[in-house]
Amino acid sequence: MKDTYRHKGLRKNLVNTLSSKGIQNQKVLDAIASIPRHFFFDKEFEDWAYEDKAFPIGCDQTISQPFTVAYQTQLLNVEKRDKVLEIGTGSGYQAAILAYMGARVFSIERQKVLFDRTKAFLGKNDFGNIRMFYKDGFEGLPEFAPFDHILLTAGATKFPDTLGSQLRIGGNMVIPIGKHIQTMYRYTRVSEVDFDEEIFAEFRFVPMLPGVNP
Ligand code: SAH
Repeated sequence: MKDTYRHKGLRKNLVNTLSSKGIQNQKVLDAIASIPRHFFFDKEFEDWAYEDKAFPIGCDQTISQPFTVAYQTQLLNVEKRDKVLEIGTGSGYQAAILAYMGARVFSIERQKVLFDRTKAFLGKNDFGNIRMFYKDGFEGLPEFAPFDHILLTAGATKFPDTLGSQLRIGGNMVIPIGKHIQTMYRYTRVSEVDFDEEIFAEFRFVPMLPGVNP
């Protein structure tokens, strides 16, 4: 796939749109300006890649809207070398953004078809350090815990305790919670048992589903 001047120009416009919608973190904007989002689309849909819109990726799932990716990434406050657990690999775009920012990314996907496709795609394109796991994200990755950050890219109905226990003290979890519409929450683990809760804007995500889908 090619990344042309035209694509770079479209990305620049997208970054301007995101910054006018309130995304201020320069590291996030730089990542969005750098990662070719159209690589994550089938060729015939590549013109959709630089609209600020979600888009179907198969298996009833979507690549999140760029604003949502930028918003969640900004809330995470990722530093270089941080260990980040993402639930819901989907297209791999969000994982690529985090890896571009220097994070060590661990990403879980429950849909085998998406998992296989995205694993092959990320393997062919060097988007940095991304480790993918096919399993139920509700279980997390206890063998790699603790994480500096945990990011859910599908809507949960409540705070997932198992994932909370895999956060280091001082680390944060960004998670959309709600049935039909989700509210963005950020939880910061302040002790073994306590989490600070902050509440942000409303979004619409595909739901977190239990178990795996072979
Ligand atoms: N971060 C993705 C967004 C994908 S949409 C991207 O950048 O493209 C959310 C994804 O979460 C879907 O692929 C869906 O299959 C996955 N998902 C839903 N419930 C899950 C669970 N319990 N464990 C792991 N992945 C899950």
